Amino acid sequence: MTASSPTAALPVDEDLLIREAIRQRRLRRTGRSLTGTLALAAFFAAIGYTLVFHPGVISANVPYSNGFLQPVLVVIGGVSCLISVLFIIGAASGARPRTPWGDPVPGDCPTCGQPALRQDEAILREAGGLAAAVRGTVTLCQAPDCDYAAATVITAGK
Ligand SMILES: [Zn+2]
Repeated sequence: MTASSPTAALPVDEDLLIREAIRQRRLRRTGRSLTGTLALAAFFAAIGYTLVFHPGVISANVPYSNGFLQPVLVVIGGVSCLISVLFIIGAASGARPRTPWGDPVPGDCPTCGQPALRQDEAILREAGGLAAAVRGTVTLCQAPDCDYAAATVITAGK
């Protein structure tokens, strides 16, 4: 055992695939911005509520609007409410299962012993290109505090 080899050895394909898979999994967990969607929904709901229940607030400030503008505002308000409901439904369905990374793998994790293994394909692309440089399957343990990771290279790089 020599201590000469630095830890920053050139990463092999397996390591690169595992890193890519972990990055993908992190992205998946972050997911779409739920807060942003809910803010938009609240925005449309506020507009809709104002237009439907207090159309006078707006029509009173618009000249030549007596009569016909009010029902138009109510309709716009109704549509606005509908949009906010759709936003909320979309946010709820998007956040529901939170589509976890990968597919479940039968068997227990060799490191922590929990049945928390998942597997997915990982692809590393050439810098700036679309061609897959390295392709393989990566197995990650989903248990918290467990960093078990394994990769099988299908198409090796270089
Ligand atoms: Zn584990």
